[in-house]
Amino acid sequence: MRFYLLDSIPYGTSRYSGEYTARRRWGLPGLQCPTCDVPYVDKSEAYPGVDLSGVPEAKQLEEAWLEEDVEKFMRLRELVRPRVPEGAPLAPGSGFGPLVGTARGNFAQLDMLYGDRIIIRRDALGQLQAEGLRGLKGHRTGLRFRQRNAPELMEVEPELIGLLHPDSMPPGMAAPCKTCGGYRLSLLKEPLLDRASLPEHLDVFRLRNCTSFIVISERFADTLRRLGFEEFSLQELPVR
Ligand SMILES: [Zn+2]
Repeated sequence: MRFYLLDSIPYGTSRYSGEYTARRRWGLPGLQCPTCDVPYVDKSEAYPGVDLSGVPEAKQLEEAWLEEDVEKFMRLRELVRPRVPEGAPLAPGSGFGPLVGTARGNFAQLDMLYGDRIIIRRDALGQLQAEGLRGLKGHRTGLRFRQRNAPELMEVEPELIGLLHPDSMPPGMAAPCKTCGGYRLSLLKEPLLDRASLPEHLDVFRLRNCTSFIVISERFADTLRRLGFEEFSLQELPVR
């Protein structure tokens, strides 16, 4: 089985006018991590289907800020934990709930404008699900259009599973930070997937130690091509 990084197309080459401005309804703050010694914010770890409206601090989590008090950060993280899938990393900056904002123009079936999230038209999602692809959980977005014939846009929530192989990570960076749980991969060499970590039951997932990477199976890639989907790029990721 081959695996591919699902990503955006080069800036300025889109044949579609669709664009949106949005932020996620809730988020954990970034953390001025005393261990990393720099601010840590991971906006790619996202749970669009998670509703925090019943959480006591939900109002506060609608704001984005950089927290300097580690204990306060940990407390907020534990409040969120019962709402997210078991084993979620919950790095500083993780987002929850739908993308809320405005959109305009016409959209391809799949929108990878921001490479780390999958926005998809409802009809296209149904098409892919009917093909039997696994792991395609879609959630409503809060994107509002002011135009006729607006598409209904959904967001896929890829499960966080699978890892980059330590050989492709900078020396000393293979383990997460003990305090904030984050990975510092700015110096990433050629990406390489860790075979033992790859799921057999999913055709799409997000890497746990490189959350901006959405990975799809060969089966998914073949389906996208066969159905004539546009506006995405694929890069095969070697496996070790
Ligand atoms: Zn840290």
